[in-house]
Amino acid sequence: MPRFSVKSVVAVLLIVVVGGAFFFCEYLIYFPAIFRCAWPKLSHAWGGEGMDGQPVDSPVHAMVLSDTHLLGAVGGHWFDKLRREWQMERAFQTALWLLKPEIVFILGDIFDEGKWSSQKHWEDDVRRFHRMFRHSPDTELVVLVGNHDIGFHYEMDWFKLQRFEKVFNASSTRIVTTKGVNFLLVNSVALHGDGCPICQSVEKELIKLSRDLNCSFQSSQSNSEGTENCEGSQTYPPTAPIMLQHYPLYRVSDASCTGQDAAPPEERHLLFREKYDVLSKEASQRLLQWFKPRLILSGHTHSGCEVLHDNKYPEISVPSFSWRNRNNPSFILASVSPSSYTLSKCFMPEESTVIGVYCSAGACLLLLLLAHCLWMKGLMQLSLCLLGKHKSL
Ligand SMILES: [Zn+2]
Ligand SMILES: [Zn+2]
Repeated sequence: MPRFSVKSVVAVLLIVVVGGAFFFCEYLIYFPAIFRCAWPKLSHAWGGEGMDGQPVDSPVHAMVLSDTHLLGAVGGHWFDKLRREWQMERAFQTALWLLKPEIVFILGDIFDEGKWSSQKHWEDDVRRFHRMFRHSPDTELVVLVGNHDIGFHYEMDWFKLQRFEKVFNASSTRIVTTKGVNFLLVNSVALHGDGCPICQSVEKELIKLSRDLNCSFQSSQSNSEGTENCEGSQTYPPTAPIMLQHYPLYRVSDASCTGQDAAPPEERHLLFREKYDVLSKEASQRLLQWFKPRLILSGHTHSGCEVLHDNKYPEISVPSFSWRNRNNPSFILASVSPSSYTLSKCFMPEESTVIGVYCSAGACLLLLLLAHCLWMKGLMQLSLCLLGKHKSL
């Protein structure tokens, strides 16, 4: 039988405790959390049939997250950056591996300091984003613009907007169509309605998209009434879009929001400021009238909420995906067909759980060291005692 010294046993126990806690908190913990999540099934209760009355056999599986706020060079502490980015990277990569979404939407505020970062810092932020949110060609990653990416309305300019659009190789306002589903992406930072050049350009694009969608509806119906104004319009599948944007549509406050990721009770009754916390009433109404979306998904508030506008347009506020903003980040899993959709929410491990595991590991470590010291002290006393007896003989 091999004999182990006390020191080597203690060293092995230390490695097991420290290494085990680290491996669990930094890798394993995301697996059971995300393993519990699954794509919601389109049920007949939600009209789970295609436009031709056939059952929907393959809906689009879309993952929706928001407000990743990759910290910048000015306000971000290096440890905060390291920690949060690692958490988001592991959570995202684990979710890709287990859930295999076909399309992922990030609803803006990708970067914390895009609104003022220098070109060098911007490039560094972008490089880290691409590393964290890397994905296979089977998954499409679609990114929306938020106020932290290009600044609030009074801070944004063409340079910042084009810098953002160039990185993601797409216009900030457009329609992405997958399997007959129209996802409408809106640059909600530019909906101030004050006639600023960027606002004018975005509104012009929105009017064009609204016309294109209306024309697609009209041409799909047997009566071709009103299609004479549709010459040159782009054709989309004739279904109401799912609208995605950074700012929520106008609502007074989060007072009616419920659920474990709603805003804390002390913040729920704070009144939202139009154009800062939520879109203005006018811009919200215009979007609803133009597009009649069957669902709206938005970010910006960092908390979860469900709202029904005008008794027919549901909106989901998607909470922040960063542990910096929440103890319990989450993302939305959406199964969407051209005529129906279902949603579920997938919660990430809580930060407090991770802290609890590390504290328990620390306590075990201390106990182990204490036991070792006491044991060594006991041994020393015993040998001193034996030595004393030996001398007295
Ligand atoms: Zn944000
Ligand atoms: Zn925001």
